[in-house]
Formats: sequence, C-alpha cells, structure tokens
Amino acid sequence: MPPAHPTGASGRQPSPAPGTDPTTAAEADPDAASRLTVLAGPTAVGKGTVAADVRARYPEVWLSVSVTTRAPRPGEVDGVHYHFVSGAEFDRMIESDEFLEWAVVHGRHRYGTPRGPVLARLAARAPALLEIDLAGARQVRAVMPGAQFVFLAPPSWAELERRLLGRGTEGPQERALRLATARVEMAASSEFDHVIVNDDVHRAADELVTVMGLPTR
Ligand code: 5GP
Repeated sequence: MPPAHPTGASGRQPSPAPGTDPTTAAEADPDAASRLTVLAGPTAVGKGTVAADVRARYPEVWLSVSVTTRAPRPGEVDGVHYHFVSGAEFDRMIESDEFLEWAVVHGRHRYGTPRGPVLARLAARAPALLEIDLAGARQVRAVMPGAQFVFLAPPSWAELERRLLGRGTEGPQERALRLATARVEMAASSEFDHVIVNDDVHRAADELVTVMGLPTR
C-alpha cells in the first residue's frame, strides 16, 4: 500500500490494534501534545547547549534524536547525537512515512524527527523536547498545534555572529549560508509561543523547563 502522505511530514502510519500503537494512544489523550516542546532558533544560538543543560539537570526530559544525511563531526556518536543515514535510507524513511517532520536545512542536508519514539514518549505521559529548524517547527505546528513552540534568540545579532565564528566548525562560505538562514529564522520569532533569550545557558534552560511545566531545581 502506498503511504497515505508521500511527503512523510504531515500524516501518520496505519495503526495496528487500538491500545497497542503509540500513535493511537497519544491521539486518544488530549493532553499528549501539551507535553511536546519544540525548540527552534537560528544557527549558533546555543539550542544544543541549552538542550544538553536541560538533559543534564532534568533527566526526565527526553530529547528526540534526529535522523540526518550529513556526515558526523568529530566526536559525534551515531544514535546519540543523530542517527546518521544515507540519502537512500532517508528516502526510504520518507516513503514509509516514518517522520513527524523533516526538512532540508541550510539548503544542504536533510534532517528529520522519527515519529514513533516521540509519540511513544507522549503516550507514556512524559515530557519530550525536539530541537529542530524553523521549517520543521512549522510542520509540527500543523500536525500537533497543542505543542509548545519555543524560539531561542541570541542577545543580539552581533553576539550570534560572534558565537558562530567562535565555535570554528564552519568555513566562511558555510558561515555566510547559516547567517542568511538565521536572518529568515529571526524574522519568524513572533510565530512562536515563547521567545527565550540565550544570555546565560543555565538561565535559558531553567526558563525552558518552566515553559515545559516542570519545577526548576
Ligand atoms: P547541525 O548540522 O549543526 O547539527 O544542525 C543544523 C540544524 O539542523 C540546526 O538548526 C538544527 O536545529 C536542525 N535540525 C536538527 N535536527 C533536526 C530535525 O530533526 N528536523 C529539522 N527540521 N531540523 C533539525
């Protein structure tokens, strides 16, 4: 049978018996989407750092592991930082409707959120966090409007440029590309339910968990 939604980003898989499928369980629970928080924001703003700080201090928060077609950077571990896959495998996952959302980021590589683990987490009544780009956040908004959408902003544009240069992981061309995307993303911050300024990682992480409805500690 062909997938109901060939784009892979807006539908869901056919369900097995009721009660055994996390999709069904999550959809039967009207509060499920409210436990999902989507964190977006421009390149180098520190989404990964803030998410890691949340994970370190609030281990009950589950962070989705995305699938990507980009190559691992030194130190990145398959299955931990990302699931690193070939273009053909990404195509297969689109075809079999395995993504909650997916997007081409910075005009290059594809990144996507596997739907199954997210829905299983929500069905278990536990908080889940996605760290994705603007296009992905818009797709999640379309299918799960009850989720919380958080935009992580830099204290200033100059600070964003400084952070991107400072981390030294991109060459001048890639930096220019990322800053161009960042301008578009910054202009979309008003679409989000909350804007958190990443002036201090711990503080921003605390604000994020407060938005998630968890007590800070
Ligand atoms: P990086 O290559 O630096 O790890 O990530 C580049 C961008 O991809 C980041 O802005 C990040 O938010 C975004 N990204 C990571 N995972 C996903 C995903 O599953 N879906 C979408 N749409 N974007 C993602």
